[in-house]
Amino acid sequence: MTLLDQQIRERFAAAQRIAVISHIRPDGDAIGSVLGLGTALQEAGKDVQFVLADGISAVYRFLKNAGLAQKEISGEIDLAVVVDCSDLERTGGVLGERQPEMNIDHHVTNLHYAQVNLVEDSAATAEIIAKHLPQWGLPFSRETAEALLTGILTDTIGFRTSNVSAETLHTAASLMEHGIDMPDIYHRVLVERTYEAVRLWGRGIDKLQRMDSILWGVLTAEDRKAAAYPGKDDAELISLLSSVRDADVAVLFIEQDAQHVKVSWRARPGFDVSRAALHFGGGGHAPAAGATIEGTLEEVIPRVLDETKQVIEQKKTG
Ligand code: AMP
Ligand code: MN
Ligand code: MN
Repeated sequence: MTLLDQQIRERFAAAQRIAVISHIRPDGDAIGSVLGLGTALQEAGKDVQFVLADGISAVYRFLKNAGLAQKEISGEIDLAVVVDCSDLERTGGVLGERQPEMNIDHHVTNLHYAQVNLVEDSAATAEIIAKHLPQWGLPFSRETAEALLTGILTDTIGFRTSNVSAETLHTAASLMEHGIDMPDIYHRVLVERTYEAVRLWGRGIDKLQRMDSILWGVLTAEDRKAAAYPGKDDAELISLLSSVRDADVAVLFIEQDAQHVKVSWRARPGFDVSRAALHFGGGGHAPAAGATIEGTLEEVIPRVLDETKQVIEQKKTG
């Protein structure tokens, strides 16, 4: 066992009231990591708080303990574990000034903000948890396996991202061996969509533009209204954009309100869009990154496209 695993094991053993926390606008990896690890701790007899500032969307409610998710920490806790967050701002401020004891994450941009930092270059945070959990002296139930497999499936878009390794597949296979119906989860979280989501795509697709090898698009508040789309996210339109041949980088601008724009980047292997995201106070991975930027669409779009051009230049100059 590594020293880090030993430390984590001891911290879990010593704590009773544990908060497992992840990021705002949670994706399947944030949710799967919180529910997977949190459920294992709960089954070990701990008092667990499953903390997600924006709650859990309907798609993921089939996972055990999804109904227990809370938007903030309540009362005293002995231990705070933050998962799938490169920085503490991503938690939506649920910790206030409190430094978390533990940070488990797979982002290259992670700031090592906790007392114990388990940061590894894996395809998903859920993959890190699945690999290390047996060392931490916690039960590994079917329900934990189901949540962790959901995290791996969603962050790899169904094992399609360039960071998927043989080890990722081995880990996924061992999770399936807990009796998990992987194709069923795959369908629920990656294939099925609402009518409104596809209508929103239509609005975005209609406005796509190309600039050199950058493909970019915009979703406005008006688009959401016209499509009757309830969220403020992109309904995964960015994944579709990243499938367009000949585009090295895809960028999507999602208007949040009059003064904030969420930007998502996706890039082919060899390009590093996390640098552009970091420049604007966001973060992520070389092939997938994001940031929320202050300003109107008119202000933000040219600034981001300029910075994104540099990502392409950097690759050309090595
Ligand atoms: P998204 O475009 O939101 O799907 O995000 C792509 C990747 O970038 C994911 O790994 C996110 O965790 C990360 N990311 C997105 N937004 C931010 C942000 N504001 N700060 C740090 N990382 C982010
Ligand atoms: Mn995430
Ligand atoms: Mn992740």
